[in-house]
Amino acid sequence: MDGDRFHGLSGLYQKPYQQMCEAKFDLKICIWITMGAFLKDLKKKGAALTLLKVSDLISELIGEEFQVKNPFLFWTKAEMCKVLAKNGQYDLPTLTMSCDSPHRQKPVQCGYCSSCLLRRQSLAASIIKDRTRYVVLHGERPVKHPSLYFLNMQAQVRTLDSLFAISDNPWKSITKKFPVLDDIVDQTAIVENLLPIEMQNRLIQLYRNYVSEWNAVESLISKGLLNQYSDLQISSKYTVLSQPQ
Ligand SMILES: [Zn+2]
Repeated sequence: MDGDRFHGLSGLYQKPYQQMCEAKFDLKICIWITMGAFLKDLKKKGAALTLLKVSDLISELIGEEFQVKNPFLFWTKAEMCKVLAKNGQYDLPTLTMSCDSPHRQKPVQCGYCSSCLLRRQSLAASIIKDRTRYVVLHGERPVKHPSLYFLNMQAQVRTLDSLFAISDNPWKSITKKFPVLDDIVDQTAIVENLLPIEMQNRLIQLYRNYVSEWNAVESLISKGLLNQYSDLQISSKYTVLSQPQ
């Protein structure tokens, strides 16, 4: 096992790499385990850098060049849902799971974590009716402040919105607030066969689209979340902590 590589990997990938090096399982199982780590990473850090890391690791596992491509890198999730609608695949979203913390009882998907909110926002912004049953809309509130995720995402959108509104150099403003975006362009543009400036422009357009889709449906997806005085107090104090996915 290459110790430098092992320590260079984030925690999620160290175990799969070790299992591969020790030939603990056969190659197919090692790849499935790596893909499991990949899905967790994807939810935490977003697609661009995670795809590069996983491509690199799987290339090593199979001993030849391997690349995980994301044809939807510059698409919002609502734009993806619109393609489903265009193809008449209205029922497909009901077969999918987005929730970060699925519940054991029914309904399973919470409806208030950031992944559920992105799902609700995307479906609301497309013409696909959201038939998912969510805990937050059908049952007791399972945690004290399910609105925190909503307020976090709302704060991100407000931040992006104001950066776009006041700046004639949106990339400079946005990377001052979310510096990881520069890393994404530095590491990903060449793989995507784009010039850095082209990738910057496409990411800016992606975030502009996301902001506009969010604003169009915000009142719909806040249903069941923003009906307490205490939520307003939290909202006024809340600050943006992480980059948009
Ligand atoms: Zn959820």
